Amino acid sequence: MTTLTVLGATGSIGLSTLALVDEHPERFRVTALTAHSRPDALAELALRYRPELTVIGDPRHHRQLQERLAGHGLATAAGEEGLVAAAGLAADCVVAGIVGIAGLAPTMAAVHRGATVALANKECLIAAGHLFRAAVAEHGARLLPVDSEHNALFQALAGSDGRDVEKLTITASGGPFRKASVAEMRAATPEAALRHPNWKMGAKITIDSATMVNKGLELIEAHQLFDLPDERLDVLVHPQSVVHGMVHYQDGSVIAQLGCSDMRVPISYCLGHPERLASSVPRLDLAKLATLSFEPPDPARFPALRVARACLRAGGAAPTILNAADEVAVAAFLDRRIGFLDIVAVIEEVLADLSPPSPTDLAAVFAIDAEARSLAEQAIRMRFPRTVSEPAP
Ligand code: NDP
Ligand code: MG
Repeated sequence: MTTLTVLGATGSIGLSTLALVDEHPERFRVTALTAHSRPDALAELALRYRPELTVIGDPRHHRQLQERLAGHGLATAAGEEGLVAAAGLAADCVVAGIVGIAGLAPTMAAVHRGATVALANKECLIAAGHLFRAAVAEHGARLLPVDSEHNALFQALAGSDGRDVEKLTITASGGPFRKASVAEMRAATPEAALRHPNWKMGAKITIDSATMVNKGLELIEAHQLFDLPDERLDVLVHPQSVVHGMVHYQDGSVIAQLGCSDMRVPISYCLGHPERLASSVPRLDLAKLATLSFEPPDPARFPALRVARACLRAGGAAPTILNAADEVAVAAFLDRRIGFLDIVAVIEEVLADLSPPSPTDLAAVFAIDAEARSLAEQAIRMRFPRTVSEPAP
């Protein structure tokens, strides 16, 4: 029996994880579940999986959660303290499925007790990369990458100590605007940007996929996970999302991982590791697919990759700033306060305005994050003093 805590249980990653638990009730028991602002959805999951602790991140929803769970003998908590307490309970594996830097403190709490962490919450590795890795090493935690490309690389690297690796390739679907003109991208609505061709994911990562900021964050994530420099990390646009990652070895062999675009595949690899769990995900039918195509990303329409590579090379606080500015800009785009192309423009502006020293502890990471957020808000207000939907004066 493996005990499991799911941080971000109500999200896309959280629900995919629980779907795997449903397939293997004899193998998994749920220790803790968390969410942020949806107490009803969380309560429903709590009644079903009966965890030791159920936590709502936003304390304003605690009372509703308590009311929904009254009389069922289920403990609840709220706020960041509650999230950290959930991660600190003695579960064998913690699935880090919170979105954004909000997941950093709880995920770090799991690392600090030496847990196995199935990491979807890539922002931990972007915002606090070196500190996060150092904590994993210091506390003997085990980090298993959930992100499909990194999970693919992790699988394709099995048996290698890394010394025989020439480079790593992660694939990108190209998102909904793979073939769009700049004019179409400029006019893109949140609804259009949220229409991802291949993957069903939360809103933030779906917008990040459309701008390709996600692929940029994933380059930094790959750098942190596999210790290779920028020039040995490659991105290929692969619209079918069948090949997720490839390891190029020094003998000319390339080992790739293939699978349908369903996050239950990489999540189940993490949950079962080192075994493989049986799963009911759709099987690949390559004869039916017939064609797998690959193309380089277009640097003119997707400047996010250049910006993220510069942050990767600069290191220090740059990835922390990139992550914070992106979270603010994506939220502003979803609120229709800025246009689609403004997301990366705002990020670049904040990066240009801020050059704090490299963070040496988590408090410094949170301070840089806060400063970058406030600068991003300022950049949004300066550039867009009125909301996009308001008529011009
Ligand atoms: P979702 O938006 O679907 O879910 C996010 C989860 O986190 C929800 O449970 C949400 O609770 C909770 N949450 C949101 N904000 C906070 C907060 N401030 N404090 C605590 N909890 C919070 O996101 P995804 O599942 O799509 O993504 C989760 C992570 O996994 C992201 O880092 C993403 O980049 C990564 N990832 C996701 C993939 C996917 O296929 N979805 C693929 C690869 C990586 P509530 O429902 O109450 O709001
Ligand atoms: Mg990914």
